[in-house]
Amino acid sequence: MNGRMIGRQLLDFVYPRYCLGCEVRLTVQSPWRYACEACVQTLPWVSGPACSHCGAPFEGDVAGPRQCPGCIDLKPAFAQGKTIFRFEGLAREWVHGIKYLPGRHLVPDLLKIVTVLPEMKGYLENSILVPVPLHKTRESKRGYNQSLLIARAWAKGVPGARVEEVLIRRYSTQSQTELSRAERLKNVKNAFAIRPKVALNPALLYTVIDDVYTTGATLNACAKVLYHAGAERIQVLTLAHG
Ligand SMILES: [Zn+2]
Repeated sequence: MNGRMIGRQLLDFVYPRYCLGCEVRLTVQSPWRYACEACVQTLPWVSGPACSHCGAPFEGDVAGPRQCPGCIDLKPAFAQGKTIFRFEGLAREWVHGIKYLPGRHLVPDLLKIVTVLPEMKGYLENSILVPVPLHKTRESKRGYNQSLLIARAWAKGVPGARVEEVLIRRYSTQSQTELSRAERLKNVKNAFAIRPKVALNPALLYTVIDDVYTTGATLNACAKVLYHAGAERIQVLTLAHG
């Protein structure tokens, strides 16, 4: 056992880690920091047919690229989108963990997610990752922005990808969860702006990053701001959809 492993074992002794799925205690040998092997097997990866714009999985066989009803409605300002998980099971626990654990502990697992998915390399290579910003009051309350945390972890796993916080949230939007679809759209419409003195490069690929894709209203509002600031190649990536 090398020094690093001994250090980790000590740390595990002082601060034991448990699987976020089943709460079994994890050992230093576990390949994931906050998930046991058995729960990792049940992760709801989105694979197979999915909406070309938001990555929402389709049930059954769908031939060729197709938009889901939500995206046809939304008229997205981004060209394509992917999501890694369905918002259920261990993926849901991870999303909650990122917000409340506090999430920094989950960074190694977030990084591992992109490194085990070969298609993510192609999707994010040489892209500017733009986290959906939190309002500064909310960010200082939580201590960090979970989307920034995710973006940073993913940038580490993909060559040429880098994080740029080019967006700001102008006012604190009411929590989205209680609102209807129409209310959400209105709520986020003017919430975002480009950071002063930031110039976007139309040749570069911008990927807006968020933890959860719900209606797409937030991501679309961010994409529109990027577009009006000169970005021409915009896509989105979220950890979970649901
Ligand atoms: Zn969609």
